[in-house]
Amino acid sequence: MKKAHPCGGMRWQVLRTGADFRLRCLGCGRIVEGPRRNFEKNIRKIDREPEDKPTPNPR
Ligand SMILES: [Zn+2]
Repeated sequence: MKKAHPCGGMRWQVLRTGADFRLRCLGCGRIVEGPRRNFEKNIRKIDREPEDKPTPNPR
């Protein structure tokens, strides 16, 4: 998550995704939730576990 919370926290924990997003600010612990489209305006991408991360050079 690349959006900064007014408290200064830059990191968010994604609690739920889908039609509605629920995020928790790791700076202050506040939970924000709302419709997905509302967050897509503010965030660039969601930090998720890389599913298809290309393996550089397995040796
Ligand atoms: Zn915060």
